[in-house]
Amino acid sequence: KMSSLEPPEDHRICVCVRKRPLNERETTMKDLDIITIPSRNVVMVHESKQKVDLTRYLENQTFCFDHAFDDTASNELVYQFTARPLVESIFRKGMATCFAYGQTGSGKTHTMGGAFSGKAQDCSKGIYALVAQDVFLLLRNPAYEKLELKVYGTFFEIYGGKVYDLLNWKKKLQVLEDGNQQVQVVGLQEQEVSCVKEVLNLVELGNSCRTSGQTSVNAHSSRSHAVFQLILKSGGKLHGKFSLVDLAGNERGADTAKATRKRQLEGAEINKSLLALKECIRALGKNKSHTPFRASKLTQVLRDSFIGQNSSTCMIATISPGMTSCENTLNTLRYANRVK
Ligand code: ADP
Ligand code: MG
Repeated sequence: KMSSLEPPEDHRICVCVRKRPLNERETTMKDLDIITIPSRNVVMVHESKQKVDLTRYLENQTFCFDHAFDDTASNELVYQFTARPLVESIFRKGMATCFAYGQTGSGKTHTMGGAFSGKAQDCSKGIYALVAQDVFLLLRNPAYEKLELKVYGTFFEIYGGKVYDLLNWKKKLQVLEDGNQQVQVVGLQEQEVSCVKEVLNLVELGNSCRTSGQTSVNAHSSRSHAVFQLILKSGGKLHGKFSLVDLAGNERGADTAKATRKRQLEGAEINKSLLALKECIRALGKNKSHTPFRASKLTQVLRDSFIGQNSSTCMIATISPGMTSCENTLNTLRYANRVK
């Protein structure tokens, strides 16, 4: 039972791995599940080098994380150990961030609850909704009631180093840094929300905006970072903020020879931002002057989440179970390993 599981003790960065089940396509093509999660924080990758006997694995690699979730874990369970422990910090003037990191198709959007492709997806059980639910619960807590907090939502996308407002017809926005090194996304829509349903309406609106004019939902979303934020304000002033980031797919352009120039540039930009992100997370809680947040638009926009007095971050690294994804999975695990 979920209630019997203790949330992890407070620390600035929590790194978890989540494995999704083999999908229909993988099952049909008899892809092998090469990932085992033998305990609650260990991930084993069986890199099969054996072509004939597919049941025998020669090289195993083991990784340790704060938590590891196998393919039976629900979004609620993942939430309990990742974003949930950070929610209350934003009521105490904290900046919380939750990243979904991994290759395209590994479950980032599923985890965040941001997929609206068809009725099958129940977005109300993703991390966006679960964070919102707890935010509105805490808002009514006597300890915070007197702050008279208001809740606002923003939703934007970073693509090719540019910021687009998903709550305002993908309007392209400028990012400015003032004399006090405060970073501002100029003109970003902040919509006041008063219940979970309204938050989900925002997510849905942003998502429809995100994919409009695109031939394929995943083709576009895999190459941009989507940032959804719940902002607390007291007397019109920023009080705390929770940023939920559905990152661009981390896979390298598999065949660069064939990739178009546009794709290559996209890939380079994504790579740059994910590297910058890694460095910024690693600098969390350390010497602030070394936080290289200017190295990419993503990290620049999230600046106050990296260098604030009271910043905490969790990363959910999502992985595909199949042998056909082995390279990408190892890359994801190595990256996540470096971040923690
Ligand atoms: P990404 O956003 O990383 O590209 P998605 O979240 O879109 O990946 O997931 C790809 C597909 O796999 C979707 O159809 C999604 O519903 C499914 N999926 C992902 N994670 C899980 C999971 N843990 N359990 C069941 N289905 C999942
Ligand atoms: Mg996605």
